[in-house]
Amino acid sequence: AHGRRKKLMVTAYTDGLDLAYIRTLAISAALPKALARNEFHLVYQPKIAINAGSCTGVEALLRWQSEELGWIGPDEFIPVAEQSGLIHEITAWVCTQAIEQVATWHQQGHKLKVSVNFSANDLLHDTVLTTFEEQLKVHHLDPTYFVLEVTEGAVVENPELTSQRLKSLREKGFGVSIDDYGTGYSSLLQLRDLQATELKIDRSFVMKLEHNVADQTIVRSSIQMAHQLGLHVVAEGVETERAAGLLSDWGCDELQGYFYSKPLEPHYFMQWYLQHQAQVKENS
Ligand code: C2E
Ligand code: MG
Ligand code: MG
Ligand code: MG
Repeated sequence: AHGRRKKLMVTAYTDGLDLAYIRTLAISAALPKALARNEFHLVYQPKIAINAGSCTGVEALLRWQSEELGWIGPDEFIPVAEQSGLIHEITAWVCTQAIEQVATWHQQGHKLKVSVNFSANDLLHDTVLTTFEEQLKVHHLDPTYFVLEVTEGAVVENPELTSQRLKSLREKGFGVSIDDYGTGYSSLLQLRDLQATELKIDRSFVMKLEHNVADQTIVRSSIQMAHQLGLHVVAEGVETERAAGLLSDWGCDELQGYFYSKPLEPHYFMQWYLQHQAQVKENS
């Protein structure tokens, strides 16, 4: 009986592995069709400037509604796209979409900035950046309205070439943000050499801020350090008024999170934005 139970456990374990593997295979098979079938769209999450409380920018976040697999989150499909190399085409699409959206908002008189997420190797891939800059020219938009978010991990993989690319982007006026700060292992030295303009503190430190003294110390000293390096600081994952209050007290420049708004479809974002800005004006 003992031997039999052991065998059952082994079977259950390998079944689990198979399921994860089959899921990845299914995603890899569906992903190449997603662009052509128009299955992607962007949602936008507001970023709030602490001084005036107004919304000055948004982060563009990718959504995928697959015909075969239904709704799949970016945390699941982005790694698969990175593995297959399809990510570059996807990032180019995201940039083009975000630029079109910003152009529309600017035409309507709303001078919003947009942050776009870049994967590690996107910066080492010429066509992504070329597409980005071409689209900006098409729409007569200034690079200063765009922030590229890269993770610390991207930076650790190929520090020299990455910081070279980031430097040239920065010289053109693009913002460069270190996303998910605190989850990677970059040294202070690397951060200094990165040519970033912004540090984005990972939501894992922000979400439990009011209950966790260690997180408070980490976040507070990260803000101080970033400011001393001349970086703008953003906190993501702000879910409560208390967290927003602490972050403002510590001088964090911008806040992003469910406390203000979830990522929204363009139409709903505009509704939220107009209402929010009216409120800010009323309170000032
Ligand atoms: P990220 O760039 O760090 O984006 C922030 C994530 O935190 C988003 O998840 C957002 O919906 C979520 N979030 C924002 N505020 C809160 C909050 O108050 N509480 C909680 N619990 N979560 C909050 P999302 O949209 O699922 O994206 C996950 C990750 O997928 C992103 O993390 C980014 O790394 C990646 N991603 C999303 N869109 C793209 C894209 O267009 N290109 C690339 N390369 N990666 C993308
Ligand atoms: Mg991001
Ligand atoms: Mg992040
Ligand atoms: Mg993230």
